[in-house]
Amino acid sequence: MNQHIAVIGAGVVGMSCALWLQKKGFGVTLVDGNEPGSITSSGNACTFADYGCVPVNDPGLFRQLPSLMFRKDSPLKIDPGYALTHLPWMLSFLKHCQPREVQKTIAALNSILKKTHAGLDPLISMAGADDLITANGCMQVYQNDHEFEKDRPRRQVWTDLGIPYCEINRDEVIDLEPNLKHKFEKGVMLWHTRQTLNPKSLVTRFFQRFMETGGSFVSDHARSIAHARNGIRIYLHGNNSLLADQVVISCGAFSRQIKGCGAEKLPLDTERGYHIQYAGLQDMINRSVSWVDSGFYMAPMNEGLRCAGTVEIAGLSPKKNQRALDYITRKSRQILDLPESPTSDWLGFRPTMPDSLPVIGPSTDSPGAWYAFGHHHLGLTLAGITGRLISELIAGEPPCIDIQPFSPSRFKCRIS
Ligand SMILES: Cc1cc2nc3c(=O)[nH]c(=O)nc-3n(C[C@H](O)[C@H](O)[C@H](O)COP(=O)(O)OP(=O)(O)OC[C@H]3O[C@@H](n4cnc5c(N)ncnc54)[C@H](O)[C@@H]3O)c2cc1C
Repeated sequence: MNQHIAVIGAGVVGMSCALWLQKKGFGVTLVDGNEPGSITSSGNACTFADYGCVPVNDPGLFRQLPSLMFRKDSPLKIDPGYALTHLPWMLSFLKHCQPREVQKTIAALNSILKKTHAGLDPLISMAGADDLITANGCMQVYQNDHEFEKDRPRRQVWTDLGIPYCEINRDEVIDLEPNLKHKFEKGVMLWHTRQTLNPKSLVTRFFQRFMETGGSFVSDHARSIAHARNGIRIYLHGNNSLLADQVVISCGAFSRQIKGCGAEKLPLDTERGYHIQYAGLQDMINRSVSWVDSGFYMAPMNEGLRCAGTVEIAGLSPKKNQRALDYITRKSRQILDLPESPTSDWLGFRPTMPDSLPVIGPSTDSPGAWYAFGHHHLGLTLAGITGRLISELIAGEPPCIDIQPFSPSRFKCRIS
C-alpha cells in the first residue's frame, strides 16, 4: 500500500491502530505530544476483561443511583456542577440504562469482546511482549449473599452468552488468594482472563516495534485537520503541520479537541478513575482480583500492587479528588495487610460515550478521517481488535465483525 496514514494519539488504542496499519503495509506517522501510553493507558487495572460485556449503565444503576450518589462510602462520585452543565450527556447515559438499550449494548460488546485475542495476540507476539502477560485468571469476590445476589444478573448474561466462569466458595477463595484477610463468602473465577504486568510497558514495547518497522513519531499535539488538494493536513500545536492520505483520531477522552474532523460534535465525555500503588507488594495476590460491590480491582504488577477503580463524573480537570483516593486506600486495606499510605496515586480519564460502546469507523463529516475512541472501561482489552478493524476498513477489506453498532452515525443528536 502506498498510502500514508497519520494516527493522532498514541495511547494503547492509537498504538494498536498504528501497528495493525503497518502490518497491512501502510506507511504510518504517530502524532502525540506525550510519551506513548503515558496517559489513561498507563494507569488502568491491567486486566484484559474479555468478559466485560455488561456496561456500567445497566438497569441496576438506575435503581441504585440515589444510594450510590449520596452514600459516603460509594465508588461513584458525581460533581453536581459538572453534571448540571453537561446534562444532555448525563441524561443520555441514564437513558441507556433502559433494558432494551442495555440488551443492544451487551450484544455489541459481546461481538467485539469475542475478538479480544484475535486483535491483541498478533501485536503481543510482534512486539515480543509475552513476558508482560500472565494467564492466572481473574477473581471476583463478594463478602456475603447480598452482594452475590446483587451481581446475579451479570452472571446470568455470561451464562446466556456462553462466557465461561465458575462460582467458588469461601475456602476456594482463600486457597487461591491466601492473603485476603477479609472473609469473602463467595467468589467467581474467570480462568480464561489474562492480565498485563504493566500496561505502560506494553504500549512502550508496541511503540519500539512500530519504530523498528519504519514508523515515524511526531512529538507534538494536533490542533486540527483540514482537507488539502493532495490529502489531509494536520495542524500541530507547535505551528508545524504534516500531510497524510488519511487520518485516525485516537486521542481517548481528548478526541473532541481535534477540530475539523467531526469528533468535536460527538457526545464523548469521561468517567474518571483512580489508582493507588504499593511498590514491591505484588506478591500479595496471584491474579487480578475485583471486589465487585466496592467497584475496584487489585492487580499484581511487575513493580508493585495496583488497586484501581471508582467512577467519577467531573470532566477533564486534572485535579484529583482525595476522597476517591481515600476510598480505594480504605477498601484495599480492608482486604489486604497494606501500609497506611500507598507509594503513589494516579487519576485517569476513561473515554465514554453515553451508550458505553466505542466509536470505530469513518467520520461522517470529514472523508478520510477515521475514529477509534470511546473505549471506557475496556480500552486495554479492546485496543487490539480496534486496531485490526481500523486497518481492515482503511485497506478496504471486509471487517472481521459487523461494525454498525460502533458507527459514529448512530448519534443523530450532535453537539454543535
Ligand atoms: C482506573 C481505571 C482502570 C481501568 N482498568 C481497565 C482494565 O483493567 N482493562 C481495560 O481494558 N481497560 C481499563 N481501563 C480503561 C482503559 O485504560 C482506557 O479505556 C484506555 O486506556 C483508553 O485508551 P486510549 O488510547 O483511547 O486513550 P489514552 O490512553 O488516554 O491515550 C490518548 C492519547 O492521545 C493523546 N492526545 C490527546 N490529545 C491529543 C492531541 N490533541 N494530539 C495528539 N495526541 C493527543 C494523549 O497524549 C494520549 O497519549 C481503566 C481505566 C481507568 C481510569
